[in-house]
Parts: sequence; structure tokens; C-alpha cells
Amino acid sequence: MNYHVLTLFPEMIEDGMNTSITGRAITKGLLSLHTVNIRDYSVTGNGRIDDYPYGGGAGMVMQAEPVMRAYEDLISRIVSKPRVIYLTPQGQVFRQQMAEEFAKEEDLIFLCGHYEGIDERVLEEIVTDYVSIGDYVLTGGELPAMVMMDAIARMVPGVLSNQESGQTESFQGNLLEYPQYSRPEDWRGKKVPPVLMSGHHGNVDRWRRNQSLLRTLRVRPELLMGAEFDKADRKYLHALLRQETEETVTPEELNFLSKLLAIREKA
Ligand code: SAM
Repeated sequence: MNYHVLTLFPEMIEDGMNTSITGRAITKGLLSLHTVNIRDYSVTGNGRIDDYPYGGGAGMVMQAEPVMRAYEDLISRIVSKPRVIYLTPQGQVFRQQMAEEFAKEEDLIFLCGHYEGIDERVLEEIVTDYVSIGDYVLTGGELPAMVMMDAIARMVPGVLSNQESGQTESFQGNLLEYPQYSRPEDWRGKKVPPVLMSGHHGNVDRWRRNQSLLRTLRVRPELLMGAEFDKADRKYLHALLRQETEETVTPEELNFLSKLLAIREKA
């Protein structure tokens, strides 16, 4: 996977990405990172790349020409024509499935805005994907680009070691991950659930799966609508609904569960 980043702050991207797991993947050659400083393509030659917005209003806008020149110079050195992702609070909200889809590409270009954003005309010319990392406004696109590059990198074969495997993480199969525990067995009087100490792999797997279902129901119930359930899952969800488990389930959760199971039975 080759990442190319059009930015006003290349050092921010390089410092962040060359750290920890992504840094190791870059050293190993599993990822490559190439930053392009848009300021180097200033039309005035003095590094200025922004100007006042037409129509008035607060802030400055990044001009079309420096962004276009930086992009043209970049793609003249890439064989394929990669997707160009503009990080913007107005884009599609980034999700795990998007990370999986982007991970299939060989090259990706990230365009980071700053100030009030970028002149719309250059966006219309070069951007293929508008992506937001959430419904809030940041000062620049560098952190969102790093968020995306990190999540995508985890899907690239070899980036995670076996110990860091991403196979059973949250959002796989539209479920959140089960709770995790490590040593000691008793921490300040709080014990690890006994099933995890039993050495019975079948029971451990079932407990984890049930915990995933329960946690998703509690925290992100809407995800369950897109999850697949097998016979054992349905048995557990019905037991929750009938309040035959040790878990406390709120009236709202019971209401949601009853609707979910009714929809699934009809399908
Ligand atoms: N005026 C813009 C608007 O209201 O949509 C916001 C500009 S923001 C202050 C500056 C830059 O930060 C944007 O061009 C974008 O690249 C980045 N940015 C801010 N929030 C973001 C978010 N939630 N997701 C992705 N990028 C974001």
C-alpha cells in the first residue's frame, strides 16, 4: 500500500505515521508514505497558498492552483491514477467497511484541507472520495488522514503480527468485541470471569460471542440490524429477551431486542 498525502504540514503526518505499528510497517516496506507540501506549489512563489473567500466571511481558503500543481506533480510520478480522498466534515462518515474497501487499492492520495477549506473548483477536478471522520470540525485534515491510514494499514497483509491480529476486532460482522482481561486474575478484588480460566475453548468462544452480542445491544444496538446470527446466537438473544440469563437488560434493550428478533423471524 502506497500512501501519498497532499498537506501543508508534512512533518505532522510523517511523525505520526512513522511511530509504532505503522512505523514498523513502513520500515519493513509493507507501507510507503510520501508527503507533498502544497506550500511548495505556491503561485506567488513566497509560500502563500490561501486567500480571502469571495463573497466575504471569516477565514481563508486554500487556493485551487497550488493544490492542482501539487496533485499534477504527484501523479506524474505514479503509474496508476489513484483515488483521491478529500478529508472533510462534509464527507461520508468513515467506517470499518470503507477501510476494508480502500485497503484493496495499491495507491491512495489523501488531500488535507486547512483554514476554511479548499477552493471548490479544484475539488471538483481531482477528488474521487469525500470522507469525514465524524460529525465535528477539526482545524485540518492531517489527523483525519492519519486516522484513515492507520485503519486501512491494519487490513494490509503483514502489517499486524499474529499477536495483533485484527480478525476478531470490533465491527467484524457488525458486532463490537467482547471484553478482554489479562493478568492478574484478581485485580483489586475484581476477578476475571471464571469461564476464561476454564481452558474449555468451546465455552470460552461461546461466552465471548454472547458478550459481543450483549455489548453491541447495550452500546450500539443499530449495528445488530446488519449482523448475521446462527442458531446459538438466536438462542442466547431469546434467553436475554425472556430474561433467563444473569445479565440485567433495560426495558429499552428488551424493546429493541423484541423488534430485532421479530424482524429476523419474518425474514
Ligand atoms: N469550513 C469547513 C466546513 O464547514 O465544512 C471546515 C473546514 S475545517 C476548519 C479545515 C479542514 O479540516 C477541512 O478542509 C478538512 O480537511 C479538515 N477537517 C475538519 N474536520 C474534519 C472531519 N470531521 N473529518 C475530516 N476532515 C476534517
